[in-house]
Amino acid sequence: MQRSTAVSGVWPDETRRAAASRALLSLVAPFFNEAGAVDAFFARVRPVLDSMPGLDHEIVCVNDGSNDDTLVRLLAHAADDASVVVIDLSRNFGKEAALTAGIEAARGDAVLPLDADLQDPPEVIPQLVAKWREGYEVVLAKRSERGTDTFAKRRTAAAFYRLHNRISDPKIPENVGDFRLMTRPVIDALRQLPENRRFMKGLFAWVGFRTACVSYRREARACGDSKFSGWRLWNLALEGITSFSTLPLRVWTYLGTATALSALFYAIYLVGRTLIHGRDVPGYASLITAVLFLGGVQLIGIGVIGEYVGRMYMEAKRRPTYIVRKRYGANATRATHATGAAQATGAGG
Ligand code: UDP
Ligand code: MG
Repeated sequence: MQRSTAVSGVWPDETRRAAASRALLSLVAPFFNEAGAVDAFFARVRPVLDSMPGLDHEIVCVNDGSNDDTLVRLLAHAADDASVVVIDLSRNFGKEAALTAGIEAARGDAVLPLDADLQDPPEVIPQLVAKWREGYEVVLAKRSERGTDTFAKRRTAAAFYRLHNRISDPKIPENVGDFRLMTRPVIDALRQLPENRRFMKGLFAWVGFRTACVSYRREARACGDSKFSGWRLWNLALEGITSFSTLPLRVWTYLGTATALSALFYAIYLVGRTLIHGRDVPGYASLITAVLFLGGVQLIGIGVIGEYVGRMYMEAKRRPTYIVRKRYGANATRATHATGAAQATGAGG
């Protein structure tokens, strides 16, 4: 409380002014095979939005190439609610791309991504909005406990955050997902980031801005199963680390130097020993061990370099992050472009 008083006194009040009269809040929700969750999603989100007078809203739903009837159900809601915007992607591009599509389409003074499966409880939204009204530009929703996630997921997530934050800059806040409120300047900054392989949590942290935090209890999935298998999570973790750190590349320089120096000292020792004690033929075991070990180490090094080269290759193609098949609803007339395409136009002009 004390902190918020200080905030209103010290900070310029553009943010608070934007949050005040008839501001527009955009919710952005990615849907991938969530047909069973659509009705529950709107049933829980609408009362929360209606409970915040003086705040206009739009609900941007991104259909990320679902192959069930998610789209049909979303369109049914869009048909009788003008605040619902549906962006139908041409195939499954993955959550990061779907979120990018939604954020780029959102027109709000503040944009708030949340999962379609109601794991990010909409009831927290008024608390996030309250912080925005105090003048914060980013309001994080932090999971105070993730008891609904499996033990393995919690442990691997903790290990990922620890490793990522040790070797990357800037740090990403632990146990904070994509569920957060971001004001227009933050969204504009995000839209300027040209990369098309987007690790959103990292990018959100990278842009900075005045940040507050609100904690909440993560709920169980409303229905269906998680769309992230172990393999997908592993790849997301690799994406996160390679997007924000070059330490895995540099470490080979140090490892190589250390190995070469050890070899040099060992060679000096061998020469000395041969001069003193004469020639010594046995040594197959040590030789084969050294050869195999160094071979293995070199292959790992090449593999790590390969991870980065592969990513550079994909990034160098400048393909757009996503393709929109069609967009339905209120802002259907707005120009549609993806990050890659937007960047290309920007560079050309
Ligand atoms: N999602 C998506 N595209 C995908 C995978 C997931 O849009 O390729 C959406 C999904 O519909 C949900 C959100 O991303 O709204 C989070 O996914 P999920 O609940 O499966 O992940 P978890 O909560 O298990 O991490
Ligand atoms: Mg979920």
